[in-house]
Amino acid sequence: MAAGSNRVPEQRRRVGEIRLSTAAPIRNERLRLVLRGAVQGVGFRPTVYRLAEELRLAGWVKNSGAGLEIEVEGSSKQIDHFLNKLKTDRPRNAVVTTEEFSRIAPVGCEFFEILPSGETASKTGTVLPDLAACPECLSEMLDSTDRRFQYAFTNCTLCGPRFSILLDIPYDRDNTTMRSFALCPACRQECESPRDRRFHSQPNACPNCGPHIWSMPGNAEDAGALAYAAEALARGEIIAFKGIGGFQLLVDARNRTAVTRLRERKHREEKPFALLMPSLAFVRRYCVASAEEEAALVSQAAPIVLLRPKRGNDLSPEVAKSSPYLGVMLPGSPLHHLLMAHFPFPLVATSGNRADEPIAIDNEEAGARLRDIADGFVLHNRRIARSCDDSIVSFSGGHPQILRRARGYAPLPVLVPRDLPPVLAVGGHLKNTVAIAIGRQVFLSQHIGDLDAFESRQAFERAIEDLCRLYCFEPGLVACDFHPDYASTRWALASGLPVVRLQHHHAHVAACAAENGIETNYLGVAWDGAGLGTDGSIWGGEFFVASQSGFERIAHLRPFHLPGGEAAIRDCFRSATSLVWETRGADRAERYGNPNVLALLERRINSPLTSSVGRLFDGVACLSGVANKTCFEGQAAMCLEHAIGSTVTSDSYEIENQNGVGDWTPLIEELLSDKEVGLDVSQIAAKFHNALVNWIVAVAQAADVDTVVLSGGVFQNGYLTARTVAVLEERGLRVATHRQVPPNDGGLSLGQAVLAGRLEN
Ligand SMILES: [Zn+2]
Ligand SMILES: [Zn+2]
Ligand SMILES: [Zn+2]
Repeated sequence: MAAGSNRVPEQRRRVGEIRLSTAAPIRNERLRLVLRGAVQGVGFRPTVYRLAEELRLAGWVKNSGAGLEIEVEGSSKQIDHFLNKLKTDRPRNAVVTTEEFSRIAPVGCEFFEILPSGETASKTGTVLPDLAACPECLSEMLDSTDRRFQYAFTNCTLCGPRFSILLDIPYDRDNTTMRSFALCPACRQECESPRDRRFHSQPNACPNCGPHIWSMPGNAEDAGALAYAAEALARGEIIAFKGIGGFQLLVDARNRTAVTRLRERKHREEKPFALLMPSLAFVRRYCVASAEEEAALVSQAAPIVLLRPKRGNDLSPEVAKSSPYLGVMLPGSPLHHLLMAHFPFPLVATSGNRADEPIAIDNEEAGARLRDIADGFVLHNRRIARSCDDSIVSFSGGHPQILRRARGYAPLPVLVPRDLPPVLAVGGHLKNTVAIAIGRQVFLSQHIGDLDAFESRQAFERAIEDLCRLYCFEPGLVACDFHPDYASTRWALASGLPVVRLQHHHAHVAACAAENGIETNYLGVAWDGAGLGTDGSIWGGEFFVASQSGFERIAHLRPFHLPGGEAAIRDCFRSATSLVWETRGADRAERYGNPNVLALLERRINSPLTSSVGRLFDGVACLSGVANKTCFEGQAAMCLEHAIGSTVTSDSYEIENQNGVGDWTPLIEELLSDKEVGLDVSQIAAKFHNALVNWIVAVAQAADVDTVVLSGGVFQNGYLTARTVAVLEERGLRVATHRQVPPNDGGLSLGQAVLAGRLEN
């Protein structure tokens, strides 16, 4: 292919140049604008071009490493008009984080043009996430007379792949994996026509010039490949399907044998599988979804949304064993829409990997890694530049919380209150993400996962390399966790760069504060499973007052022993035994633990102390009878929350607040009494949650603050979060919760970047 033949027109000079009409307009002012944020790949340049044409302004617009640069020349009235219109007529997906204006001397140009993208020393332009197909593109795919009828890679300036195809910034076709597809004349024409909705659409493609799909075995192409997949799924086979941000493993969600086989082959015992449903009608048939939840499902991010299932459905119980929720998504890409038209029933759609490994993205790699799991493959020849799992969102009190931030959200930056020095933050050990700080923007990587497996640690290193390369970023320092054994900490210490080690829970609350524009003078509540404290013990039920001088730990959960250490994460009965042992003594504890556990407690062997609310949840879940063992972090807490059901009560157990220590022994005492008299588990669960809320309220009222920040994995609990927010707001306090990054360890890198930046300044 000749160099240049595949270029989208903006690479040529003076593309779409407008000659302005005969009567010379007044041009005595020139304005320069720089817009930063998600301004590339959203149809911003064509919008500016059309506005300039309408207002008869001269000048130019271009993408640059910084974002979008515009210079317009005309009368001051026209320019004011332009600025107003630019605010109201902004492209749908654009997110402008900062705008800079400067008046400069007119140069006397006569036309408006779209200039080729320029490089600048600092690359801070935001790239959009991958976006689900827009209604216009979908209707073309369904129209048998359209040239894109049933074409799986249909897209336009308002939809389609972005981050998953990006090789470099600025976002131009030559900097994406679409550069290997030369545009056909018809597609080129669309890209060159200012009034076409594909004007400057970088991944533009059609059946004549774009990517294609095929099946393996069989080598059927396009519709044939999808027909093959549908037949194989109907037979109960497992299909490895190359999607947008990586491979997915698909199986008929109604077929118990097939789903069980997928669990066995993937080595995933109980963790729930996500479902791909054909349409909202199916979601309503299987689940209870609020208007907000439905809006998230059909949004352009198209995440997995956690929903409550309806009883008596025909899904295999193997789909979401031991979880009260179903993770559901709708087709986002044209490819998934076409697949679901061929197989219009719920499918299990889980990441294409073996348990705990990163998702496969490359055809050959998937062939090797998924060969023993999948019975067949559907492949395509659009290269995926980087892996991006499906994102997960849940709702509490009508507000969305991102639990896994990847496709559809990454790599949108989080805007923080002030400029940061160039920090690379490497996150925690579980649910890892990494982040880089450029000015006021913190760019978080997509979800990488737990760093136990060698392949995950490789993915972690690739993500760091990828972010730094994309943004030409040279870190001045590395921020990591306090914990010396985290793979991320070890990487930081070996990096040869200056390192700042930050306490885990300080980073949690700093992340939540930063994304809400809060800097200091707040009460930070950091509740999670575990993080290393500054005193060497395991923290996880902490309250800090954050001020200019740092964090003061003003309260925490009364520590208890974890017999067996890490084994307590799987075995809830270990925490339960310990709680009862402390409250009512060894005799009573015998009922909950085996002799080995009791021996560990008696002799204080391998029984570290923890103030973790996550482990308190585990223990209480066991004592209430809802969970004895767990298969994934947070499972017991999820079951305990679910046990509340529709119960409404303000009854509560008591956590006694004594000199900053939240003593749970009265809570356990009352709970055991309630169990003895046979109180319903829904009441017990509600009283436990309410006790935690009341404890937060008591600490908040004693602290001299007007803002409370909630962070840590425990706040994935919808009941706890919604009630805490409601009760604190009733008392006139401002409450900040996570909106843009996960409350779990997926948000740590943001907090680390902000804290390290502050230390440096
Ligand atoms: Zn579209
Ligand atoms: Zn074409
Ligand atoms: Zn944590």
